[in-house]
Amino acid sequence: MNEATDTFSGQAFPRILGDWSVGTPGPLVVICGGIHGNEPAGVFAAQRVLHALQRNEVPIRGRCVAFAGNLRALAAGQRFIERDLNRSWSEAWFRRGSVDAKDATSPNAEDAEQAELARLIQETLVADNWPSVVFLDLHSFSAEGHAFAIMADTLRNRDLAWSIPIPTILGFEESVEGTLLEYFAEQGHVAIAIEGGQHSDPNSVRCHEAALWISLVRSGCVDERHVPNFPQYREFLERLSEGQPRFLEVCFRHGLHPEDGFVMNPGYTNFQPVEKDEVLATDRRGKVHAPVEGRILMPLYQEQGEDGFFIGKPIRWFWLQLSAVLRRMRLELLLIPVLPGVHRLPNRNHWVYVNPKIARWFVVEIFHLLGFRRQQARHGAHVFSRRPPP
Ligand SMILES: [Zn+2]
Repeated sequence: MNEATDTFSGQAFPRILGDWSVGTPGPLVVICGGIHGNEPAGVFAAQRVLHALQRNEVPIRGRCVAFAGNLRALAAGQRFIERDLNRSWSEAWFRRGSVDAKDATSPNAEDAEQAELARLIQETLVADNWPSVVFLDLHSFSAEGHAFAIMADTLRNRDLAWSIPIPTILGFEESVEGTLLEYFAEQGHVAIAIEGGQHSDPNSVRCHEAALWISLVRSGCVDERHVPNFPQYREFLERLSEGQPRFLEVCFRHGLHPEDGFVMNPGYTNFQPVEKDEVLATDRRGKVHAPVEGRILMPLYQEQGEDGFFIGKPIRWFWLQLSAVLRRMRLELLLIPVLPGVHRLPNRNHWVYVNPKIARWFVVEIFHLLGFRRQQARHGAHVFSRRPPP
C-alpha cells in the first residue's frame, strides 16, 4: 500500500499523453485522465495504452489521443486547486478557439486548465471528418470498491459501455451539471466515464487499461486479435464485478457545500446496500439519513468534492430492452401530442414541459424510457430534453 500511495501522491504530467494515427480511416477516440488531480490512475493507464499504439505493437484505424486533465492539481495530488474542473463545460469554452490572455493569467488555476484543454479538444475534433467520435473519461474514487462505468443513456453509449464487463450507472448527469462527459454526449458523440476503483489501488490502473483496450476494440479503432492478452482484460474485469448489479440508475445525490462539515460514517463501500433512513454521515446540522433504500455510490472519504454520496437502484434488463425498442420506434412523436399535461416548449423543439398536476404517473420513468434527460425542475414542473438520436 505504501508503494502505491507514494506513486499516487502527485506528479507532473504532459498535457498530451499520446496522440497516434497512421492515416488509416477510422474513428476518433479521445481519452481524458486526471480531470480530477487526485485521480492519476487513468493517466497512467492512458500512457500505457498510447505507448503500445505508438510503438506500433497494435495497428490502429483512425486516431487515438489522450489528454491529462488538471495538470496543476495532478502535480499537487489534489482534486482541484480553486474549483472542480469537471463542473463547468459549456459550448462557450469550445467556441473561444484559443487561450486568451485573461485565462492564462487568471488567478483561478482551473480557468487556464480549461481553456487549454478546450482548445486542444476542439482542434482534435475539427482536424478531420471523423465517421465517429468516442470520448473516454477516466476517474477513480475515495471509497473502497471496484470499477464501474457512467454514461448518459443513449443507445450508442449503451453499445460501448455494455461491452465492458463492469456495472453501468445511468442518470449521473441529471444530478451533476457541466461535466465534460455530458458535453460530448450532448454533441451526439459516444461518451462514457470509467471509475477505475479506489484512488490509490494499483488495480485501478489495470481496470482503466482493460476498459481502454475493450473500448478501442468495440469502437473499431483496433482489432481484438492484435491486442496482446485481450481475453485476460475481459476476465479481469468480470472477476472484479462478480456479484455486483449490472445496471443501476442514480435516484439520489447528497450535494455538499464546503461549510457543511460533512463526514461520511466509516466503512461504506461502493454498491453496498443501504436502508431508507439509515444514518450514513454527519454534518453541522446533525445526522445525514438515506432518503431512500438502494445501493450507495461514491461515498466521500476525502476533503474536496461536492458530492457526499449517491444512491442508485438496480434496473431490470427487461426495461432496458423495452426502452431500446421504444426509442427506435420514435414513440415520443406519437405520444407527446396526445399525453395530457405534456407539450413541447415553443422555442426549443427537443424540450418537453410536463405539468405534474395533470401528468401524475411515472413521469420521469416514462420519459427516461423514451430517451429523454430530465433537466432542472421549474416551478414544480418537469422539463425534459431529448438526447441526440438514436
Ligand atoms: Zn473524478
